[in-house]
Amino acid sequence: MTQTIAIGAYTDTDAQALTGELGALALPELAALAALPEDQRNGVRALAYKGHDPLGGAQMDLLPKLEVIANFGVGYDAIDVAAANARKVLVTNTPDVLTEDVADLAVALILTHAREVVPAAQYVLDGDWARGADLPLAHKVSGRRVGILGLGRIGQQIAQRMAAFNCPIHYWSRRPKDAPGWTWHDTPEALAANSDFLVIALVGGAETAGLVSAPVIAALPENAVVVNISRGSTVDEDALIAALEDGRIRGAALDVMLNEPNPNPRLLALPNVLLLPHIGSATVETRAEMGALQRRNITAVLAGQPAETPVNTGFGA
Ligand code: NAP
Repeated sequence: MTQTIAIGAYTDTDAQALTGELGALALPELAALAALPEDQRNGVRALAYKGHDPLGGAQMDLLPKLEVIANFGVGYDAIDVAAANARKVLVTNTPDVLTEDVADLAVALILTHAREVVPAAQYVLDGDWARGADLPLAHKVSGRRVGILGLGRIGQQIAQRMAAFNCPIHYWSRRPKDAPGWTWHDTPEALAANSDFLVIALVGGAETAGLVSAPVIAALPENAVVVNISRGSTVDEDALIAALEDGRIRGAALDVMLNEPNPNPRLLALPNVLLLPHIGSATVETRAEMGALQRRNITAVLAGQPAETPVNTGFGA
């Protein structure tokens, strides 16, 4: 009897490991759960989840023996942890193994946007260079103020990297951190007012929804660029788009946005916006580590052992 169900689009290697090592039954999406026969659902103890569709109490109730939801990713805002707590279901995630990749991508977004790398490459491909066409100058990164909203694992790594570019580091977290030389601000607005690049590294979910509000965006200097590698939900996207359309800030570089994978068409139409398809952790090496950690969490719980990276506590072994 299948004890593990794997939901989502896994690489071939991960899919083989899930089905081979764990004997998992693979489903393409959450919605397919309801179509499984009841006796099959009743035997399921572990759910390997990879996706951003909301996973709530209704889905958990389809699996009455469920012990663990092992998320593929550090951000588990798609999973209703309160509903999991109510059902004594452990939730696990994959922190740390992806931190460097996401921080690297934030730096790439800053440099690519400021130095206009994409239009410059296009200028070569289009033959504009050979024709002697004008190429506008771009903007400097080194020495500019970098504001990190959420100095967690990823936020700290972004700050470290940008400090190496001689950028003064400013940040907002709920409390000041032990971060000598970096300047804490007591509100997101105060941070915004001191940021040439405002980099959002918060968790997603209800508690941080719209934290980058219209007043925060209004506090940004006019040369500011908003960089988001967290979740689209953390930003009041209408307020951001309005500021970009009006030219009140220089631009935005976003790996995450609302309504993925169908961004607001107004964002797509803006020349000062760089959009990426949510690829913060999308390297072969890191995705392999995330998959391995996801599977170790499931193996531990099925063996009655503590999970390596639990999100909630008091359940499982
Ligand atoms: P982390 O270490 O837990 O850091 C989370 C940050 O969010 C901390 O700075 C924390 O604030 C802040 N935060 C948490 N709850 C908050 C609340 N209620 N109000 C205000 N701030 C709150 O997590 P991480 O490993 O750095 O990951 C951060 C996020 O990055 C993930 O949750 C995920 O959404 C996103 N992510 C994106 C990608 C991508 O592909 N783009 C990949 C991986 C992760 P304090 O500093 O005050 O504790």
